[in-house]
Amino acid sequence: QVKPTYEPLNEQTVLDVVKPLDFFDAVEQKSLLVKEIGDGNLNLVFHIEDPSSNKALIVKQALPYAKVVGESWPLTLDRARIESEALLREAESVPHLVPKVYYSDSTLAVTVMEDLSDHVILRKGLIEGQTYPNLAEDIGTFTAKTAFYSSDFYLHPFEKKEQVGRFSNPELCKITEDLVFTDPFFNHDTNDFPAELQNEVEKIWNDKELLREVAQLRYAFLTKAEILLHGDLHSGSIFVKHDSTKVIDPEFAFYGPAGFDIAHFIANLALNHLSQNAHAKEPFNRESLQTYLLQTIEKTWNTYSETFTQLWNEKATDPFAKTEGVLENFLQKTFQEAIGYAGCEIIRRTIGLAHVADLDSIPQKEVELFYKKKALELGSALIKNQEKITNIKELTDWIRGA
Ligand code: ADP
Ligand code: MG
Ligand code: MG
Ligand code: MG
Repeated sequence: QVKPTYEPLNEQTVLDVVKPLDFFDAVEQKSLLVKEIGDGNLNLVFHIEDPSSNKALIVKQALPYAKVVGESWPLTLDRARIESEALLREAESVPHLVPKVYYSDSTLAVTVMEDLSDHVILRKGLIEGQTYPNLAEDIGTFTAKTAFYSSDFYLHPFEKKEQVGRFSNPELCKITEDLVFTDPFFNHDTNDFPAELQNEVEKIWNDKELLREVAQLRYAFLTKAEILLHGDLHSGSIFVKHDSTKVIDPEFAFYGPAGFDIAHFIANLALNHLSQNAHAKEPFNRESLQTYLLQTIEKTWNTYSETFTQLWNEKATDPFAKTEGVLENFLQKTFQEAIGYAGCEIIRRTIGLAHVADLDSIPQKEVELFYKKKALELGSALIKNQEKITNIKELTDWIRGA
């Protein structure tokens, strides 16, 4: 039986969690292979497999501190409850786009879920130059459906507010508030950039117009409880194989501004687009990869707005749902806000605490610095031109021109 108190699992004790689930039969239980495979910064991830049948599952456990920093940075275990509840909630509207949850235990801070080891992390696939034909449609669908079904346009106000409470996630939100919206814009010791970028970074710190916009984006993040967000939708939180997409790792889930998730997805594709100038081997290859990335950004937004519109027309309970322009205003505001959030994500992934391999793995230092400067320019331009960029084609023009 599962123990009633929390303790970090190891490759032996994790079997005590798995055995009572009857996922493996008695014979299989005797020969299970266990491996800790977590590459993240905050949690343990165990892969448990019966080698004779290849049946496998994943046990993810939150640690009471951030693994990347050590025990000096305590972090709530409640994020494991949030993660499993978010996965279940997402599965109600997009079951094909999330791992199945088999079991969860909030005391042990574990989620037992479907093994997706036949997929690869999107960031890795993209850096290697792979393309995924369903990605845009899948992420557009994921963001639209999880948004609509968690919003006041659909839910009764009592249920909406109950959900807001259930997904109250102050400690993980604070990480975003600090690492995305604050520290990169000031001379703060969590920042991480090479001395060669000092001038460009100081330009950001001294740009009053930019800082005023970031302050507004940050304030909206703190206050605007519109929809249930994934909260960390970068290309390391998406598993892909040729014809399949699975969104994992929603431990940052909370009710926030509608443009936030799609912005993070777009920003991470934009960073990969920039890095392909260095990664792609042949000019032809580079051009087709970059075209794919921009088309994916466009199709994701178009799928998002078409799917959201369809749900609105069929199911919205809002009293103004049939009033001309109400939906259009919502989508336009979401789009504008997403441009700003994408700009913040691009900047923080370049000079903040957690970088992206897309830029960091560029082999020549000079080239890496060149594209990091481009990233800072693009991020700043998006934040300052939120109002001027009025449609998705204009956004991809900015990214192409970076
Ligand atoms: P963290 O919150 O610590 O970032 P993630 O949920 O992102 O944890 O998982 C970290 C890594 O563990 C993933 O990048 C992936 O390699 C592996 N992993 C996580 N979930 C699964 C899964 N369902 N199937 C297979 N591998 C997984
Ligand atoms: Mg992760
Ligand atoms: Mg995580
Ligand atoms: Mg490097």
